[in-house]
Amino acid sequence: MDAMDEEIIRELAKIVGDDYITTDDADLVAYSSDVLSSAFKKPDCVVMPKNTKQISDILKLANREKIPVIARGGGTSELGGCVAWHGGIILELRRMNRIKQIDVDNLMAVVEPGVICERLNQEARKYGLNFPPTVPTESVATLGGMVASNSSGLRSAKYGATTDYVIALEVVLTDGRIVRFGKPVYKTSSGYDLVHLFVGSEGTLGIVTEITLKLKPIPKYFATAYGLFDSLEESARAVAEIVKSGINPAGLEIVDLPTQQATNRLAKKYGGKLSEASFPEAEGLLLFELDGRDTAQIEADKIILQEIAEKHGCKEIIWAKNEEEREKMWFARKSVLVTLVRDKPTILIGDCILPPSKLPDLIRIMQDAGKKFGIKVYIIAHAADGNAHYLVPYDINDEDELRRLEALEDEIVHKTIELGGSVSGEHGIGQHRMKYMKPEHGESYEVMLAIKQLFDPNNILSPGTIFCE
Ligand SMILES: Cc1cc2nc3c(=O)[nH]c(=O)nc-3n(C[C@H](O)[C@H](O)[C@H](O)COP(=O)(O)OP(=O)(O)OC[C@H]3O[C@@H](n4cnc5c(N)ncnc54)[C@H](O)[C@@H]3O)c2cc1C
Repeated sequence: MDAMDEEIIRELAKIVGDDYITTDDADLVAYSSDVLSSAFKKPDCVVMPKNTKQISDILKLANREKIPVIARGGGTSELGGCVAWHGGIILELRRMNRIKQIDVDNLMAVVEPGVICERLNQEARKYGLNFPPTVPTESVATLGGMVASNSSGLRSAKYGATTDYVIALEVVLTDGRIVRFGKPVYKTSSGYDLVHLFVGSEGTLGIVTEITLKLKPIPKYFATAYGLFDSLEESARAVAEIVKSGINPAGLEIVDLPTQQATNRLAKKYGGKLSEASFPEAEGLLLFELDGRDTAQIEADKIILQEIAEKHGCKEIIWAKNEEEREKMWFARKSVLVTLVRDKPTILIGDCILPPSKLPDLIRIMQDAGKKFGIKVYIIAHAADGNAHYLVPYDINDEDELRRLEALEDEIVHKTIELGGSVSGEHGIGQHRMKYMKPEHGESYEVMLAIKQLFDPNNILSPGTIFCE
């Protein structure tokens, strides 16, 4: 650190207190990456603010000195979005973890950004409510991180993404101004919708310091099943028809055979709770769940679902007989990534999206690219959204593998874009996918860049995320 830097560290320490800033090398290493990616860059310091005023003071200082500031919640984004690519300050937000209000009458919650998703759901459950867009990382992911990434996943088929639940935000802008966007109301047509401009902005426009979210009543009944198909493609065709039928399943997940087999093999190998993760094996496996407040409706939907599945060659449907079996099915699905990552030290995760009717095309693109570049690709999908993941465990020290991996990803993404799709259904852009922004967005990329420049003229907020410039 030169003299100037030390003065800045002193100023930051004055804002947050000596105990809540670190320049210790071991700490900086711990904050130099996210959970799964190979991203690695040490920040200059990590600060842990406790309130909005402190964040405002930090941003005023950083903006004056043109120092990068990178917000960080649980650090589970796996695209390098919370990494200090140009050095600077990591803003660790997990001390801001108060659930300020659960408004049972209006089905709303007001939370600080560092609240862990699972904790909100534990609290909301006491009132028969929940925040539906949970992610498999819900025990670590923060609501600030979910808002900044517009996360979604296992239940988005019926319940949508984080953006569908955010109704108001408190945000600190780059010059330290504290502003509120939106109101605690279910809808508004008053002025620009700045709330949803910030959802998915990955910390590049401002720091989210308070979130007002909608909650939903927890459904009373569930029917959960594995559908076993002889063909992965046919299982994907069944999905498009299920979506069209209007039965609106809460979950509709595809898992391909290599993923089922690898999960079964690796989960046993590593033992502990993980060893309970197990799939029945089939070329195409569909995990579906119906939910509601009315068993008659669920029973009627089960019949429709069964008919569609059978029409597409489903050879067996295994319904969960009780809550324990239901949980086991979901546990296997949620364990896929944490199990695969035990195969090799790092994993590439893609989450391209096309309309549901084109899901078979998307899966074929991923399989063909795997064959072309000699890479084993595992495929899972939040199928009802048309959102498929390609998962490739890899070794960062194998240069040939890295080259083939890059070619594989370019091919999958460009073909998705050609078919009218998007590079990311839910994980975001981060640093890893910046190069796909222009090809996907064309002219509107320039509009996004202009918005970024308006909110952050000195480019101090997460430089090296979303935008190449
Ligand atoms: C095994 C695994 C499975 C996953 N599955 C899914 C899935 O199914 N669906 C899905 O959507 N995602 C998934 N993810 C990605 C990730 O878990 C989610 O994006 C999660 O919501 C990120 O939350 P976080 O608190 O960890 O955010 P972080 O990783 O800490 O941050 C994410 C981004 O948000 C920004 N940010 C964080 N807090 C704020 C704030 N208060 N203000 C402004 N910007 C902020 C950061 O700068 C960064 O750009 C998965 C990840 C892993 C490792």
